[in-house]
Amino acid sequence: MRTVYVNGDYVPESEARISVFDRGFLFADAIYEVAAVLDGKLVDFPAHLRRLHRSAGELGMRVDISDDALLDIHRTLVERNGIEQGQVYMQLTRGAADRDFAFDTDAMTPGLVLFTLKKELIDTPVARNGLKVVTIEDLRWGRCDIKTTQLLYPSLAKMQAKASGADDAWLVRDGHIMEGTSNNAFIVTSEGAIITRPLSNGILHGITRATLMEYAATTGVRIEERAFTVAEAHQAAEAFVTSASMFVGPVVSIDGINLSDGKPGPVATQLRQHYIAESRKRLL
Ligand code: PLP
Repeated sequence: MRTVYVNGDYVPESEARISVFDRGFLFADAIYEVAAVLDGKLVDFPAHLRRLHRSAGELGMRVDISDDALLDIHRTLVERNGIEQGQVYMQLTRGAADRDFAFDTDAMTPGLVLFTLKKELIDTPVARNGLKVVTIEDLRWGRCDIKTTQLLYPSLAKMQAKASGADDAWLVRDGHIMEGTSNNAFIVTSEGAIITRPLSNGILHGITRATLMEYAATTGVRIEERAFTVAEAHQAAEAFVTSASMFVGPVVSIDGINLSDGKPGPVATQLRQHYIAESRKRLL
């Protein structure tokens, strides 16, 4: 049975308990991070910690634990659960209090939960066959840059995509692609340039997005950070998504229109390999 971490204790998952009054449960008053594990070590961990602190800062949530202690918990869970490839999920909540929209952060003890997931990340169906996406209106709130656990709309969008025979949804505002339900979206032009939306309050500032762009820049790939329309995506030579769970996931069709002959394109495939190789040099 998996060992999980709950508010200071390592316990078997069946014994893990949180309060029903936890604001994470009642109000989605919680933030989270998901770090990938490769070769039993963490990918891009310092960047995930930086984003956790940013999310907490934007919501006025306390982080009472040190970065070193958080790293230690991650490593302990990876070791105890024998994770060679997979993920560590970390959630920080504002804490428990009587149910009220108003809250007093100082009077509450933040809640902290971590667990692992064993999962093949390299040789995956997505890497081999790519993803089919459909575009769906983005009805999320205005602060998608904060990584909160308010994930109901992205879940519904993903279910709508699956019901239509696709794998995922790309969310659209004002005719422009924002991002995937749980990944950042990129298209590739016929000249091989990659285009992705600039950072704003409207999308999550993906760790994989940032690292991939850093790696891509060193290979001489041209990167354009600008908004792109649904029509541009339909006409793109290739497309792909980035996330800590998929790294680089090739997109092979958008709204039923095949890209790169319905197979993972060469640019996405090469960037995926490059990302994995470079990440392996920087594991923690
Ligand atoms: N965009 C959204 C909405 C997400 O939920 C995620 C990850 O969960 C991402 C993008 C990708 O972010 P990262 O690369 O940090 O995993």
